[in-house]
Formats: sequence, C-alpha cells, structure tokens
Amino acid sequence: SERDLRPDDPVAVALDGVTKRYGETAAVDDVSLRVREGEFFTLVGPSGCGKTTTLRLIAGFEATTEGTVRFGGESVAGVPPEDRDVGVVFQNYALFPHMTVGENVAYGLKFADPPGGVTRAERVAELLELVDLPDAADRDPESLSGGQKQRVAMARALAPGPDVLLLDEPMSALDARLRERLRVQVREIQSELGITTIYVTHDQEEALAISDRVAVMAGGTPEQVAPPQTVYREPATRFVAEFVGDNNVFTGRVVDATGEADDLAAGDRDEPTGNGDADDSDPVGIDVDGERFRIGLGDRAGESPAPGDRLTVCVRPEDLRIDGERNRLTGTVESAEFLGETTRMTLDWRGREVVVRARDPLSGDVTVGFDPADAHVIGVETE
Ligand code: ATP
Repeated sequence: SERDLRPDDPVAVALDGVTKRYGETAAVDDVSLRVREGEFFTLVGPSGCGKTTTLRLIAGFEATTEGTVRFGGESVAGVPPEDRDVGVVFQNYALFPHMTVGENVAYGLKFADPPGGVTRAERVAELLELVDLPDAADRDPESLSGGQKQRVAMARALAPGPDVLLLDEPMSALDARLRERLRVQVREIQSELGITTIYVTHDQEEALAISDRVAVMAGGTPEQVAPPQTVYREPATRFVAEFVGDNNVFTGRVVDATGEADDLAAGDRDEPTGNGDADDSDPVGIDVDGERFRIGLGDRAGESPAPGDRLTVCVRPEDLRIDGERNRLTGTVESAEFLGETTRMTLDWRGREVVVRARDPLSGDVTVGFDPADAHVIGVETE
C-alpha cells in the first residue's frame, strides 16, 4: 500500500524549529519536519504529546510561538486557515444535521469554486463517488453510520480541491472493526487523489497500517520520523520501542566485543555448537543480570561497543521463539491471553516481564531463544 517516496520528492509542508507555548508549557517543542508532496504522514503518540497542536499550527488555527511553517517553501505566518488550501477533518464528524449529505459536501464549496471547471452539483457527485457513497446525496446525515459520516466529512473537506488534507483522530469515535475498514478507505481515497495528507492518531497500529512515514511524538517533539517498518524494526529510542507494539527492552553490559569468542560457559546453559559464529553482523556478547546474550549490531556496528559499555537492546515478542536455540532464557508464564492468531504471554524472568507470542497458550516454565540478528540496539552508553 505504500507509495515509493523518494527523499528528493518536493516538500509540501515544512516545519522549522516550531514551538508553541501555552504559558509555561511547550505543547510543541522545537519541531522540524518535512512532509513530501503526495505523502501520507502521521503524527502518533500518547495523549498530550502535542500531535493536535502541531496539526492546528499547520492548519493555521494557532500561531507558532517560535519557528516557521511553510507550504511549498513559502512561510504561511499570518495566513488564516481558509487561505492555506487545507482540508480539515476532525474526530467528531461536524456534519450539519439540518442539511442533506449533498448539501454538507456542497458547503465545502461555500468559499471556493469547484476545481476543474465543473458545476457544484457535478463536484458534489464526484466526491460522493470518490468516498464510495454515490447514492447518499439526498440522505439525512443522521441516517449514516459513523464511518459513512466521516467519509462525508472527508468529501466536504476535499470539495474545494485543497493541496493538503489534515485529519485529526477521524476514527477515534468508531468501533474497532469500522476503524479498520475506514482506514483502508481513507488510504485508498488519499492514493487516488495523490493528496499530501497529515494524520493525527494515538493508535500506533493505525499509524503503522496507514502511513508512508510516521513521526512518533513524546513531550512535544518527534522521537523518530521514519517509514512504519523502520519505526517497528529499528526504533530509535526506548520510548519508540515501547510505544510501538509490544517489545522487550533490556540493558546489559558488554562482556565480549570481538564477536569471535565462543559463548561463555554459563554452566546451566547448553549452547549448541555454532553459537557465536560470524553469520550475524558483528555480534557482541552482553551480560544481563548474569545471563549472556549475543547481539547483532546491525547499523550500529560503526560504534564499536567496548567491554563495560552498556547496551540497550530490544527484541520483539514474535522473535522470541519457543525452544529457540540461541540466546535462551527461561521464564515462568504469568499470564496468557488467547488472541486467535497467537497467544500473548508474559513470562517472569528474574523479576522482569518478558512478552512472548506463540500459537497456543503455555504454562509453567518456558524457554525461549532469539537470533542475534533479531535484536535491535537502541543505545550504547560508554563507560
Ligand atoms: P490528545 O491526544 O490528548 O489530544 P495531543 O497529543 O493531541 O493529545 P495536544 O492536544 O497537542 O496533545 O496538547 C499538548 C499539550 O498542550 C497538553 O499538555 C495540553 O494540555 C496542552 N495544551 C493544548 N492546547 C492548549 C491550550 N489551548 N491551552 C493550554 N494548554 C494547551
């Protein structure tokens, strides 16, 4: 579903050093971002991280305290929302109840002529077609489902042919199944128009599913801006590792930085031969509370951690394999949730919580292991 964005695609919206303060609080704190033309870009993060304020600054509902917002390279400081060529959709539909669906969409053309030289009626029909509600023009908005209402709200926002579509938690009032359907539809509409879209959600799964790139925000600042796969597989910070999906984060001390020595005789551990072989990208040995693990460095190999350094690493639950042969640890099942496709279990391992997924629920002591290449290094702290 992802479009092939290139780093040299033109920038549609840029933020440079943008800060928004309310009294002492910086709701948005020194944010610099580039959103490319045609990109589906998502701001995701927990409540209060500054997503909505960032979107409102882009829309022009708020003025920046510091920094610059640019559309197509031009500063929009002082330009009111209606002159920014943006279409905005909010959480709570905001359809006019006393107007038909068609009149609601036509309202989007109140301050602008329809693009492409068509009549208003033709434009309304075009948009209802686009959002897959071709026969809804005469309907009462109250007769629509939540998902249909949001599609009408999108049609209204898109009616004047804006350059940029801004969506603020448009699905948060809908139930899970409807949200999943609507996000596919939103993505299809966006792709069909090729319109630059900035989307706000607190739902990390939704963000991964729908976006070309996501900015994971905390405390008013993006911690990582990257495509969904990168954010998931190579989280830049501990916060991102823990906010996006389930993750197991450990910090250990480097005990062997050569990548060659065989694993250390941990006594009760029965390492198969081949552990420590050089098929991983420069694995190092770390010690976490007396247990030794080999960790592939991936793109951190250049940092050459030395013995004594502290390495923070994460391993996804799906990469902890039951009876895996390398990097084994044994924990006790504390809880098991059957989710259908998999069962999510929490193990107690030396007082730590380790999340594991397997097909069927297990109980008692469980041994899992992971491949050094499946661990991702988040941080290296030198002594
Ligand atoms: P949510 O998902 O809960 O809406 P958010 O990530 O969108 O959260 P914002 O709404 O942007 O976060 O708010 C960021 C911070 O700025 C919060 O601490 C919030 O209380 C504060 N804030 C936002 N708007 C105002 C305002 N108008 N006046 C004072 N403080 C504000």
